Amino acid sequence: MELNTQSDWVARSLRSVWHPCTQMQHHETVPLIPVSRGKGAWLYDHEGRRYLDAISSWWVNLFGHANPRINAALKDQLDTLEHAMLAGFTHEPVIELSEKLSALTGHVLGHSFYASDGASAVEIALKMSFHSWRNNGRADKQEFVCLKGSYHGETIGALAVTDVALFKDAYGPLLRASQTVMSPDARQAADGETAQDVARRAAADVERLFTERADKIAAIIIEPLVQCATGMAMHDPLYLQLVRALCDKHNVHLILDEIAVGCGRTGTFFACEQAAVWPDFLCLSKGISGGYLPLSLVMTRDEIYQAFYSNDVTRGFLHSHSYTGNPLACRAALATLQIFAEDDVLNANKIKAARLTAALQPLAQHEQVRNFRQRGMIWAFDAIDAPKDFSRRFFATATEHELLMRPIGSTVYMMPPYILSDEEIDGLAANTLAVFNKVLAG
Ligand SMILES: *Cc1c(COP(=O)(O)O)cnc(C)c1O
Repeated sequence: MELNTQSDWVARSLRSVWHPCTQMQHHETVPLIPVSRGKGAWLYDHEGRRYLDAISSWWVNLFGHANPRINAALKDQLDTLEHAMLAGFTHEPVIELSEKLSALTGHVLGHSFYASDGASAVEIALKMSFHSWRNNGRADKQEFVCLKGSYHGETIGALAVTDVALFKDAYGPLLRASQTVMSPDARQAADGETAQDVARRAAADVERLFTERADKIAAIIIEPLVQCATGMAMHDPLYLQLVRALCDKHNVHLILDEIAVGCGRTGTFFACEQAAVWPDFLCLSKGISGGYLPLSLVMTRDEIYQAFYSNDVTRGFLHSHSYTGNPLACRAALATLQIFAEDDVLNANKIKAARLTAALQPLAQHEQVRNFRQRGMIWAFDAIDAPKDFSRRFFATATEHELLMRPIGSTVYMMPPYILSDEEIDGLAANTLAVFNKVLAG
């Protein structure tokens, strides 16, 4: 058998694979790294170099690569049932997962609807909201509201409620218009203003819009506590309480997109628990399968479910994906939930988070850093006077320091898996500081 070297893999990939979210020509200067295997928090290339996966491979991996417990569950499932369609049939993994998720919301969100990727979950929530209003005689409620800087995925429907120019501008003519309201991003606090003051100002913007046209609005979609893709913009939980009250008062659905912030990422299993509110629709994906398989779902209240319950086919929610409720993906999710329970992960993460925050103090105090912030297992800071191409240069320099990190613009962030050892935490902090200084020095 022919032995491929690292550079063979790079050349073959560039000849045949179109990489996501990438200007392919940049790979003339930025390295493409072929991964040969993963173990724990580490990814290994074909030359034996390793990279600490400090961003959980796009925020999906919670308990490390090749996790023995998830692997064992999947091997068992593989020999039992790999897939069966979910229309007219059901199976143990999807039932157990739906029951467990419902229980985690105190059964407020009683039914789960399944898809494969996050953007599809967002599409489902939007369609369900619109359709449930129509079933209730309110077909005029057709508009959606999103926040400034919001990110909810890149399919046509999800992109319509996304407000990140890089992803949206090129496709603007294809998209349905939506209403955009002020972000509660606490970095906007004026002198003497608190994060709660910003939350109140942002909620007032929602109130203005609802007062004017709530009769046309089906739902507002929010990524609770941290708007991740726009640059880890964090806000006070008060915002969610105020918007929940406005939604109740003006008859507008609240969709919470917990695709990135769910599954313990912000410190509680669901981010909205920190505001003690539940939405009408909750979207989950990314971490729910432990980063193993594509799985997404939308949880809803029973009132929503009941709006579709009828003898009439057209009142049903007529949406499906080929792999809806895939047993392997659901089994990976069940193994993930089991680790949360067995290892008391949410409490264990508090100790890890405190250690990393302490280790990052040299960066928090760095004269070229502002807005150092943390919530749960998310850390971020903004570089002052970042050079052009900061993000790409940081990525490339990080790989030379055994780190996988991809800043968003001039915002450096970490979203590590929940399994870092003390040594890995300290190394992550020290190497990030070294990379940051090197990139700023040019
Ligand atoms: C990643 C993400 C999505 C889209 O999920 P995909 O699986 O990439 O389609 C939607 N919303 C949020 C908040 C996300 O972080």
